Amino acid sequence: MIIAVDGPTASGKGTIAKALAAYFGLPHLDTGLLYRAVGWQIDARGADPDDPAAALAASAFPDALLAEEGLRSERIGGLASRVSVHSAVRAALFERQRVFATQPRGAVLDGRDIGTVIAPEAQVKLFVTASVAARALRRWQEMADRGETRTLAALEDELRLRDERDSTRATAPLLPAPDALLLDTSELDREAAIAAAITLAGEARKR
Ligand code: C5P
Repeated sequence: MIIAVDGPTASGKGTIAKALAAYFGLPHLDTGLLYRAVGWQIDARGADPDDPAAALAASAFPDALLAEEGLRSERIGGLASRVSVHSAVRAALFERQRVFATQPRGAVLDGRDIGTVIAPEAQVKLFVTASVAARALRRWQEMADRGETRTLAALEDELRLRDERDSTRATAPLLPAPDALLLDTSELDREAAIAAAITLAGEARKR
């Protein structure tokens, strides 16, 4: 069984994907980390994220980099969003994701284009969304827990910019697959969102 969980930043898709993986006993890949690793390498080299050749050159990296805590910062997330518009970068990361998705025991992958490009054959496709206000508040709380202070307004602006870039790029834009089930987590806490996702996944498996 392949479970594809797509959606925008801070929609809750990562939490949901992890919980589904634990519930169904499947391995999980956060594909955003792959794009973040490219952004990280661009940053380390002082290269230009908007230059397709530099971004492609940064797309080869060791698996060990995926464990780097610094990949999760807002800054690297912004660089990831910029390198991810290049079709050569997406092509370079395709095989890695495809191998993970098609392992014999099945897998859960979360990202932006899992149900549309990486694993269109996935039996379960969830598209997780939430309002910009709800997502900014979550992001603000996570950052506050790490001792980082930002205003909600600034976080909302960044999310809007990232959504715009992810949804309007020419290659693999952030869009629900036609057969994806939508889950809006704006009004749900963590446990309620996970419970709703497990129910939806169970229904999708029976279809
Ligand atoms: O999900 P996360 O915030 O870690 O992703 C960082 C960036 O990587 C996203 O803003 C998006 O531009 C890009 N990404 C993508 N396709 C994926 C996963 C992430 O384009 N499957």
